[in-house]
Amino acid sequence: MTYVDEVISKVKEEYKNEPEFIESVEGSLNSLRLVIAKNEDFYRKNKILERLTTPDRIIEFRVPWYDDKGELNINRGYRVQWNNAVGPYKGGLRFHPSVNLSIMKFLAFSQTFKNSLTSLPMGGAKGGSDFDPKGKSDREVMAFCQSFMTELYKYIGENKDIPAGDIGCGAREIGYMFGEYRRLRDNFVGTLTGKGLSYGGSLGRKEATGYGLLYIVDSMLKANNLSLKDKTVVVSGAGNVAIYAIEKAIELGAKVVTASDSSGYIYDPNGIDLEALKEIKEVKRARIKEYLNYHSDALYVANKRVWEVKGDIYLPCATQNELDLEDAKNIVKNKGIAVCEGANMPTTSEAIKYLLENNILFLPGKAANAGGVATSLLEMHQNSIRLMKSFSEVDSLLKGIMENIFANIQKISHEYNLGTDYKSAADIFAFIRLSDAMVSQGF
Ligand code: GLU
Repeated sequence: MTYVDEVISKVKEEYKNEPEFIESVEGSLNSLRLVIAKNEDFYRKNKILERLTTPDRIIEFRVPWYDDKGELNINRGYRVQWNNAVGPYKGGLRFHPSVNLSIMKFLAFSQTFKNSLTSLPMGGAKGGSDFDPKGKSDREVMAFCQSFMTELYKYIGENKDIPAGDIGCGAREIGYMFGEYRRLRDNFVGTLTGKGLSYGGSLGRKEATGYGLLYIVDSMLKANNLSLKDKTVVVSGAGNVAIYAIEKAIELGAKVVTASDSSGYIYDPNGIDLEALKEIKEVKRARIKEYLNYHSDALYVANKRVWEVKGDIYLPCATQNELDLEDAKNIVKNKGIAVCEGANMPTTSEAIKYLLENNILFLPGKAANAGGVATSLLEMHQNSIRLMKSFSEVDSLLKGIMENIFANIQKISHEYNLGTDYKSAADIFAFIRLSDAMVSQGF
């Protein structure tokens, strides 16, 4: 049995009840076959794959908080610190009822690869809670965030582990957690990123994941003699990633025709009205269906996925496993050109395989959505030197980072003869850096 197969089967056996974690490990390790085969004895002797698939530590804790009815609620909190060989732990916090250990582990494992791929000094971590901020009052969200932080603060620090947002955890939640952290530490340091602009946040952080996605899509299209101009773009999601991906896609000359939430999607053949979308999601925190109140000629499709819509470029920006084999078949049938992941692991492995076999350009989230965490690093940098950069400085650094990620992927693709299998190339690049750092620093 090859070393890769051995480790995959051990992980599958040991973590049977963690399907998302298994899926992410299998996906990445399968990409590494070529690089491992070059020097299998070395990697085996150093137990590199065992080390990479085992987190440094998992922290799990209880989060008690009172709701507005005066009732006590108990949620579960997590921080999974996966690997800090190339820099302090870095990664977001997800607040969503689906959160469990398997999801936390898959996210922390993928974050480690993503952060390595940026070439920036950031290790990988992830955390969160099964708390659902949807429908809660601001006071309830504050009570939860403060309680969450009274436990989490023991394990994080500006040079140790720097959390940020993710699904269900935006500027409001980061603000409440930062306030509590500052109080507990009696110190003003940038241990969280995604902060508000009035207290150490970075201009451009809010836009970064969506903008970064479009910068790398643009690089990829150019490398394939294509462009975004006049392309029809199908986006899923209506959160932070989706909104700013739509904004940048429009700016680069494309037409975006969809946006979605967990209840359904909007199809607007005239192009999504971004101002309306921002008002619905960022101000009113309402459902996407409200879009019909702004544009009665748009179509609302309940309980269906956007992938049935005809487009050129597909950008899954909602959540994991939202694009499966059937969806991939639709995309191929509709003569799509590319699928690029704004979310973490939105495309199932079967779907990725099908897309690649049918020559659809595919960029994995590890590369395509790295703009968010990369800009978090820029926020940390500004906090350390106590000087803030302008929006255009941050934005041009972000663009450079995304272009560099794509250039590194291309270099690996050439070296390993991978053609347009950017997924394997991204994993290989991230792996080589991690493995080198781990071996150099001893076991
Ligand atoms: N949650 C984002 C991600 O998946 C951002 C993490 C961060 O900024 O630390 O990469």
